[in-house]
Amino acid sequence: MTYVPRQDRIRELFPNEPAFRLRQIEEALFHPSVRGWNDITSLSLSMREALTASVPFQSLAVVKIFESKKQDTFKAIVNVEGDKEVETVLMKNPRGAWTICVSSQVGCAMACGFCATGKMGLIRQLHSDEIVDQYRLWQHFLLDHPKLPPRISNVVFMGMGEPLANYENVKATLNTILAQSDLGKTRITVSTVGVLPRLEQLLNDPDWPHVRMAVSLHSADPKTRKEIVPTSYDAFLPKLEDWAKRYLARFGNRRHHLTFEYVMLSGVNDTPHHAKLLAEFVKRIGNVRVNLIPYNFTGCEFTCSTKKNLDMFEEALEKSGVTVTRRRTMGEDIEAACGQLVRKEEANT
Ligand code: SAH
Repeated sequence: MTYVPRQDRIRELFPNEPAFRLRQIEEALFHPSVRGWNDITSLSLSMREALTASVPFQSLAVVKIFESKKQDTFKAIVNVEGDKEVETVLMKNPRGAWTICVSSQVGCAMACGFCATGKMGLIRQLHSDEIVDQYRLWQHFLLDHPKLPPRISNVVFMGMGEPLANYENVKATLNTILAQSDLGKTRITVSTVGVLPRLEQLLNDPDWPHVRMAVSLHSADPKTRKEIVPTSYDAFLPKLEDWAKRYLARFGNRRHHLTFEYVMLSGVNDTPHHAKLLAEFVKRIGNVRVNLIPYNFTGCEFTCSTKKNLDMFEEALEKSGVTVTRRRTMGEDIEAACGQLVRKEEANT
């Protein structure tokens, strides 16, 4: 069964209603006091009844919400149409607000060797309603838990899936969240494995909102990169370098940099030689930050770099003048950390 977008269902239900009415409905979906069609009191009773009877108010059905011991990470397993499950995560950030991590696909086709989602293969794309509804779900969750800080301040596309392999739906999601929430472009990050044709497309797409971009580099050595990210394009590194320079020339400024993510895998990409190659690569490009991600064990051949190697790697980058941050690992006790998003049953097959 394929997902029928909310707007199409609404249009079909009210073919003679003017466009502004549809916009009014879309806006109401994000209003904190609106928890069901019946709450949109600006609509007539008959319209509310018709909506309640035939359009799901939320496209996601919560299967289970896990809570970390520290109450700083929550993971929701949700069902989308077709009986497929995806995961979405709510994490407390240093601002004392929440960052939500959204999934853009059920599974992923990119098959990165160290990523649990990569082992599932691609099952289906998520429609923009289904991505946007992950935001709405956490918005409602926080309203229902008044003891938790109320504000969602950031959205990262770092859940299941490769966002740029679902370009149109991700673009629609970004535009909806920017229009309907109080989040600005610098509060949203799209993380990509580096789908070069789509990176090229977004450079010249007038409808692509220039939110922050993070590229999962993982190695500046072509051989190592291909080993851990098997879908890497030929000559990926020089092509990425060329793209990144053009991207930064157009959109880079004091507040707009590019991030390279780098998962630390013991003995694979964490040697002084790898640090040197990475520093050289980054410095050729310019306004780039490196985000080191301690590898979260997902039951494959890799292990996380030792603390000593992580420290040395970080120091080597800093000494070369590279801006580097280390990702805090959160939600490990509920398997909500980076790359751990996968259904258990699927992981065991
Ligand atoms: N497809 C997107 C989003 C993936 S998840 C991308 O490739 O960027 C966000 C980040 O978590 C990516 O950098 C991804 O490589 C990283 N990641 C995946 N599995 C991981 C794991 N087991 N441990 C740590 N980071 C992981």
